[in-house]
Amino acid sequence: NTFAEIDLGEALNANITRCKYVKPTPVQRHAIPISLAGRDLMACAQTGSGKTAAFCFPIISGILRGQPVQRPPRGVRTVYPLALVLSPTRELSMQLRDLEKGVDILVATPGRLVDLLERARVSLQMIRYLALDEADRMLDMGFEPQIRKIVEQMDMPPPGVRQTMLFSATFPKEIQRLASDFLSNYIFLAV
Ligand code: AMP
Repeated sequence: NTFAEIDLGEALNANITRCKYVKPTPVQRHAIPISLAGRDLMACAQTGSGKTAAFCFPIISGILRGQPVQRPPRGVRTVYPLALVLSPTRELSMQLRDLEKGVDILVATPGRLVDLLERARVSLQMIRYLALDEADRMLDMGFEPQIRKIVEQMDMPPPGVRQTMLFSATFPKEIQRLASDFLSNYIFLAV
C-alpha cells in the first residue's frame, strides 16, 4: 500500500514523493479515501500517527482539483479561505502572518480566529473544508464556546458542500456531542 495508489492528483503525489513519504500510516490509509469520497469523518488518532497529513492531503487535493471558485472581489482587508483548520496551538498557525496575501487554507487557533472574525479580517462564507485537530485538547483548553461561534458563522451549505473532519485522541461525551452537532452522516474511524 503506497501513496501512489491513492488518487490524490499528480501535483500532490509528486510533492508527497519529494517529501519521501512512501507508505501511508494506518490513519492516512483509512481517512484519506473516506475524505476523497466526500464523507464527513470522526477520527480517533494520537499525535504522531500522521493525522496532520490525513486531513491536509484531501483538503489540498480537493482544492487543486475543485472547480475554480468565484470569490468576492479582492477586498483590502477581508480574506475568504476555502478551508479552515482549527488547532489548539500556534505551531501550525504561523501562516496567519501572511493574511494580507490572501489564503486558501487558513490554520488558526480558535481564540485568534474569533478575534479576526470580529475585526472582519476573515470571512468563513466560502469554507468548503473544515478540520478540527486535537478537538479534545481544544475543549480541555476551554475553547468550546469559540469553536461553536466559529462553526455557527459558516453558511449552512446544502448537504455535501462542506466537508468536516474531526480529529481527537479520545472520544468522550463532549466530543461525541461536537461530532453530532458538526458532522453529517459521518464515518467513525479509530486507529
Ligand atoms: P503527526 O501525527 O501528523 O503529527 O505526524 C507525525 C510525524 O510523522 C510528522 O513529522 C510527519 O512528517 C511524519 N509523517 C506523517 N505521515 C508520514 C508518512 N506517511 N511517512 C513518513 N512520515 C510521515
